Amino acid sequence: MTQQQHAANPATQRYQAIDAAHHINAFLDQKALNQEGPRVMATGKGVYLWDTDGNKYLDGMSGLWCTNIGYGRQELIAAATRQLEQLSYYNTFFHTTHPAVNELSERLFSLLPGDYSHVIYTNSGSEANEVLIRTVRRYWDVVGKPSKKIFIGRHNGYHGSTVGSASLGGMKFMHEMGDLPIANIVHIGEPYWFAHGGQLSPEEFGRKCAQELEAKILELGADKVAAFVAEPFQGAGGMIFPPQSYWPEIQRICRQYDVLLCADEVIGGFGRTGEWFAHEHFGFQPDTISIAKGLTSGYIPMGGLVLSRRMGEALVEHGGVFAHGLTYAGHPVAAAVALANLDALQREGIVERVKTDTGPYLQKCLREVFGQHPLVGEIQGSGLVAALQFCQHKPTRQRFANENDITWRCRSIGFEEGVIIRSTLGRMIMAPALVISHGEIDELISKTKLAVDRTAAEIG
Ligand code: PLP
Repeated sequence: MTQQQHAANPATQRYQAIDAAHHINAFLDQKALNQEGPRVMATGKGVYLWDTDGNKYLDGMSGLWCTNIGYGRQELIAAATRQLEQLSYYNTFFHTTHPAVNELSERLFSLLPGDYSHVIYTNSGSEANEVLIRTVRRYWDVVGKPSKKIFIGRHNGYHGSTVGSASLGGMKFMHEMGDLPIANIVHIGEPYWFAHGGQLSPEEFGRKCAQELEAKILELGADKVAAFVAEPFQGAGGMIFPPQSYWPEIQRICRQYDVLLCADEVIGGFGRTGEWFAHEHFGFQPDTISIAKGLTSGYIPMGGLVLSRRMGEALVEHGGVFAHGLTYAGHPVAAAVALANLDALQREGIVERVKTDTGPYLQKCLREVFGQHPLVGEIQGSGLVAALQFCQHKPTRQRFANENDITWRCRSIGFEEGVIIRSTLGRMIMAPALVISHGEIDELISKTKLAVDRTAAEIG
């Protein structure tokens, strides 16, 4: 007997019917979904969600890795209301600005480690990475190296769903739709030791993957390569934590060939690994940082592209007009919510707690519970993000041929057990809100265990 019930709630049926009639949902087969009917999420509080049938879920994915502060925080709601009353909209075009966006910028740069000077605000992570393409090319024009146009991304990297950001990403099935990638974007391998490491140790494999970047730069010509773009840990592409040897070698190569190092921190930013930014966890210093999600804890859309002082000052001093602007970028209400979110994260020491308390606790419990599990070949993660690699045969790291079906099934069972965990490329992923307590971590793990055990039993 599973915990969750599906009552024939008229509200659920109504919303499912409207959804089926009018909505194209994200990343799924709409026709298949229409037969099944989506869950209709109605309420959120802390780390919990309730659907319109009254089922309660522990949201082990903080929405889409974004509600870092948890659901329903009154300070963020109050900040939005105050700002809506004061100045509901204005922009930063044509010689204007407003207090909210400036208060946010000051706070953002007080949190950023290293020498960063400017930010271009956007409404999403995809837009941050679209802006990245134009800004990086503009930078190289301005500093007199206009031939540097090519971006190098990684297979299975994810940088968003718009034309440029999906091109930077390395998701094959996305590229197959819409003739992507666009010109001058190429990809190298992902640092996924479990799948591709063969007989190499993780550290040897990490260096080898990084050296693929060097080989690609030499093949294309360093005078043609603008930037390397990657997530510090690869999120949607399987929550892959690269071996420790990877990032220092990538940084060395980028510096040696004057290739910009662009970190997509849309998931990793704002405390996920126990550092404010994930590149701090891995010990490298990017030239640009793409941000979104945790910036506002998902309460309202906002993203941005942070630039190193070298880039920001070159663009400002020598760039003249940058012909770029988004009507809602730096929106006052989003900025006020972001500031309230950062206030709460700082005031309550939440990122520090992820580093010293809740993060280590989650990681320890996962290893205790799943370390010897027959279905789990590897456990990766740090802070409040983790992945369980499913596999058929641990000693040889053999994966299931139908691994995506298996992890998708595990995710569905998770819903039945009252926990939301994500399935991606043969791995089960969790990234709960950063406010999660020890008791809630216990619940997350015990329900995940039920889901993994039931999946294992079904496979037989
Ligand atoms: N970059 C990364 C690393 C992401 O994980 C995502 C979304 O999951 C994006 C960019 C795109 O962000 P958005 O969905 O806000 O456009």
